Amino acid sequence: MDQHYINNTEVEALKQKVQTLTIQLRFIQSHCKHVFIETSHSPHRKCIKCFYKELIPN
Ligand SMILES: [Zn+2]
Repeated sequence: MDQHYINNTEVEALKQKVQTLTIQLRFIQSHCKHVFIETSHSPHRKCIKCFYKELIPN
């Protein structure tokens, strides 16, 4: 028996969970009144409430 063997069903279940959470996250982010913080070393800014990230518009 290989100890590093990962059960496919487990992976599929996790993928499903990620997908569900991604959808939930998108829903939260689309309803968030973003409060952005800008970091000088990044071309992106991030919302401190929902962690939505976007390019800083110029
Ligand atoms: Zn936000």
